[in-house]
Amino acid sequence: MYDIIIIGAGPAGLSAAIYARRAAKSVLVLEGNAYGGQIINTPDVENYPVVAHISGFEFATNLYNQASSLGAEVKFEKATEISNGDVKTVKTASNEYEAKAVIIATGSRNRKLGLDKEEQLTGKGVSYCATCDGNFYRNKPVAVVGGGNTAIEDALYLADIASKVYLIHRRDAFRAEQASVDSLKKKENVELVLNSVVTKLLYDVKLNAVEVSDKEGNVRLINTDALFVAVGRIPENEEFKAVAKTDSEGYIIAGEDCKTNSEGIFVAGDNRTKQVRQLVTAASDGAVAATAAINYLNTI
Ligand code: NAP
Repeated sequence: MYDIIIIGAGPAGLSAAIYARRAAKSVLVLEGNAYGGQIINTPDVENYPVVAHISGFEFATNLYNQASSLGAEVKFEKATEISNGDVKTVKTASNEYEAKAVIIATGSRNRKLGLDKEEQLTGKGVSYCATCDGNFYRNKPVAVVGGGNTAIEDALYLADIASKVYLIHRRDAFRAEQASVDSLKKKENVELVLNSVVTKLLYDVKLNAVEVSDKEGNVRLINTDALFVAVGRIPENEEFKAVAKTDSEGYIIAGEDCKTNSEGIFVAGDNRTKQVRQLVTAASDGAVAATAAINYLNTI
């Protein structure tokens, strides 16, 4: 039996592992994909205090090595269920692990548009990661859909690679930081397609155009080799709803103390209810959740 099982090896989970190991608690980290979470797709992290520039991959690798060298055990297995009780059991496809406390730090996944053939065209023009796939579209026209920080940053990044960038957004106001929106508006090869939604993907063997409809019902065809979908994220909490209450959008309900409604089960990072979902707040959640779990262990 472990003292603490941490589900997720992103910035929140690995930060929690560091704090728990420094308190000499036994720690198992379960991760269903690669370590690092969504930050591994960021080419240059510029907003983490003290570190002026670092690639997301290097950040994640340093964090993983730090947690491992402190003695956190990491297994690359996806947690599928938590059974609650004095002892918590975390199931994966092939194993069951026991712990006195659990921290859910599973983050979030990309929201899809829900268009016909979206899945089949993923990797054939449809992408959810501009920094991963942008280079394939050097000097070609591309489109980005969304109006948050991700969409605007993706469009800015692609503007330096692609011949033309269409930014398609369903409103005319943006959620993204004004400074980024202002930078985007200065780019000569960027066209804002506002009050508009993508209604159809057109393709032969791969995407070659998107159909866009505006609020007045006007339909326009945009020739593009790629559609970068950046319409937000969905918290990865489906498997844990029986032990951790979620809000209407699926985020585990917890305050700054990272405590869920279940004793001994904590949540850290982007998958909890919070105002600011950033690398620095994920890391900070990891510290808070681990400290709360350590305090809980001292009471049982
Ligand atoms: P987001 O802020 O939730 O924005 C999602 C955007 O997609 C919104 O503009 C939304 O439109 C649009 N949208 C949602 N569903 C749609 C649909 N079905 N069809 C068309 N458009 C749709 O998501 P995000 O940009 O991925 O950012 C997530 C979080 O990470 C945010 O807190 C963000 O600030 C943060 N982030 C920060 C940085 C940074 O600080 N450098 C970088 C990236 C992300 P409406 O506006 O009309 O709802």
